[in-house]
Amino acid sequence: MNEIDLSTSNTLDSVYYKRVLLVEDDDRIADFIQRGLKAEGYAVELARTGREAIAFGKEGQFQTIILDLGLPDLDGQQICEHLRAKRVDTPILMLTARDTVHDKVIGLRAGADDYMTKPFAFEELLARIEVLMRRSVGKTIIDSKEMLVADLVLNRETHEVRRGGTLINLTPKEFSLLEFFLRMQGKVLSRTRILEQIWGYSADPLTNVVDVYVRQLRRKIDDDYTIKLIKTVRGFGYKLDAT
Ligand code: CA
Repeated sequence: MNEIDLSTSNTLDSVYYKRVLLVEDDDRIADFIQRGLKAEGYAVELARTGREAIAFGKEGQFQTIILDLGLPDLDGQQICEHLRAKRVDTPILMLTARDTVHDKVIGLRAGADDYMTKPFAFEELLARIEVLMRRSVGKTIIDSKEMLVADLVLNRETHEVRRGGTLINLTPKEFSLLEFFLRMQGKVLSRTRILEQIWGYSADPLTNVVDVYVRQLRRKIDDDYTIKLIKTVRGFGYKLDAT
C-alpha cells in the first residue's frame, strides 16, 4: 500500500515531481546548472528568453523555477510579476550577477521566493531548490518519506531503495523512474509520459531510453524476485503494481 493514495487524486496526479524550469540565457551557466540537476535526478526544461519562460511557466508543471534576472528580452523581475499576476505560484529562485540589497528587494517584491548571487556553489543552489520544492504544490508527496509497493520501499530522504530488506543501488535516473512508477502505482504510463516526466520535453521522442532504463530497473528490482512489480502493457507502455 502507498503511504498516501495518489491514484485517486487528480491534483497530485498533475504535479510533476522534480521538474525544474531553468530560465538562463548564458550557455555556460545554463549547462552547469542543467548537468548538476540532471545528475540529481531532476528533469530540467530550459528557457533562454523571457517570452519562453512565461510560456513554460504558465503550464505550471514545475515545482521550482530558476530565473535569471538579466535576460535578452524581458528581465527576471517582469517575468516574475507576470507569472504572479497570472496566479502561477510555482516557487521562484532568482539568480543575479548583482549583489546589492536593492536588487534583492526588487526580486522579492516581484514575487520571487528566494534569491542567489552569481557565482554560486552548485550545492547551495541544490539546497535552496530542495527547500522551495517542499513549499510547492506537491508538498504531501515530497513530505512523505517512504513509498511502498509489496516488499519494496523507497525512501526519499535517504535515497535508499530496499526490496525484502535488501539494499538496491540505483542511479539517480533509475531512482527518479522508480519514484514516478510508485507515485503512479497501478496506472498505465506511456513511454512518452515517462520520457517527458523523467527526461523533459526536449528529449528526442524517438529515443528508446525509456525501454533501456525500464530494463535496467527491472534487472535490479524484479529479476531476483517472484513478484514482478513492473509490467509491460503491450501497445501502451508500463505500469507498476504488486498484483
Ligand atoms: Ca543573463
